[in-house]
Amino acid sequence: MRFILIVCGCLYGFSAIAAGATDAAKKLAQDVIIVDTHIDAPGILMERWSDLGIDSPKAEFDYPRARQGGLDVAFMSIYTSANDDETAKAWQVANTQIDAIEALVARHPDKFAALRSPADVEQLRAGGRVLLALGMENGAPIGDDLSQLAAFHARGVRYITLAHSRSNRISDSSYDPNKRWQGLSPFGEQVVAEMNRLGIMVDVSHLSDDAVRDAIAISKAPVIASHSALRHFTPGFERNLSDELAKLIAKNGGVVQIPFGIAFVDPKAAADTQAHFRATAELHKRNAAHKAAGRPLENIDDFDKQWAVDHPVPDTQIGAVLDQIDYAVKLVGADHVGVGSDFDGVSGELPEGLRTVADFPNLITGMQARGHNDADIRKILGGNLLRVWAAVEAAAK
Ligand SMILES: [Zn+2]
Repeated sequence: MRFILIVCGCLYGFSAIAAGATDAAKKLAQDVIIVDTHIDAPGILMERWSDLGIDSPKAEFDYPRARQGGLDVAFMSIYTSANDDETAKAWQVANTQIDAIEALVARHPDKFAALRSPADVEQLRAGGRVLLALGMENGAPIGDDLSQLAAFHARGVRYITLAHSRSNRISDSSYDPNKRWQGLSPFGEQVVAEMNRLGIMVDVSHLSDDAVRDAIAISKAPVIASHSALRHFTPGFERNLSDELAKLIAKNGGVVQIPFGIAFVDPKAAADTQAHFRATAELHKRNAAHKAAGRPLENIDDFDKQWAVDHPVPDTQIGAVLDQIDYAVKLVGADHVGVGSDFDGVSGELPEGLRTVADFPNLITGMQARGHNDADIRKILGGNLLRVWAAVEAAAK
């Protein structure tokens, strides 16, 4: 989920649907266990309900297209915003989203199953079911109560992104200029220890650099970045991982899951996103001055609409994602790279050829064309994440 939803002219639902994929890639997609660690379907369901067990053209994830693309394990993002946190709604929102995913599984037991352990993948995916695992984006729903970690673990949450767009009780955020804790908070250190004890993966996506370093240093199990691209391509964009941090994650046995959103993989879009953060901060400053002087405030929605007109989303191709994967493999090795698409979380701002869960064969076609062998493709598209998840489980025992 992105920090801001820029008004977007992209067509929803349209997809190349593997038109450019080779038969070999389509076949491999069906055979490989594909794991995508970040799909924002629960947020979509909160905004506008639909039945994701049947064709849902307005969403980027539904059962028919997951099957078509060969997607086996879809981490549903239980996302709460900094606003939900500040208005004390995060716990309620998170539980309601989990209910929505449970309802989806209950409605279609032949199409979906809830996945709580990597040990169950083979058995549960028999018959073509798509397995839904839960990842919580933003630790806000636990409030200041460590026992909530066990409660959400019992509901199926298997990773937690410690913070989102603003610093919270647990950690600083890459998007927040106010680095309140200079890393993790003292409470955040306890949170990581309790997640290790329970077997919940620690997710460092969205965190500030210091917080990523703290999380890796404190965690007794490998950590993941559930949807983080590499800063090498987007200089200065703290949301993406520096080479140093990606290497640290790998050194500890973890995995960097590459997202597909244009704002993360396209240098111009990442620069525009950063410029938008700065311009928005300036707007808030001006509005504070207007308020103090009794003048009318500038309208933020109008500002965002004009911004979107002035900064059109680049026409990014699938190659931008392949570049990220290639670079990551060279930097940290094929054992430490994966994918976390951010489908349904980036307002449709996705590269040509990689716009829905049906498009994984296009990604495989591109990886094969660039010389990745099938064994590495298996690891990158799912094997690595399942290995790390099993290691986190083992460390808990
Ligand atoms: Zn996100």
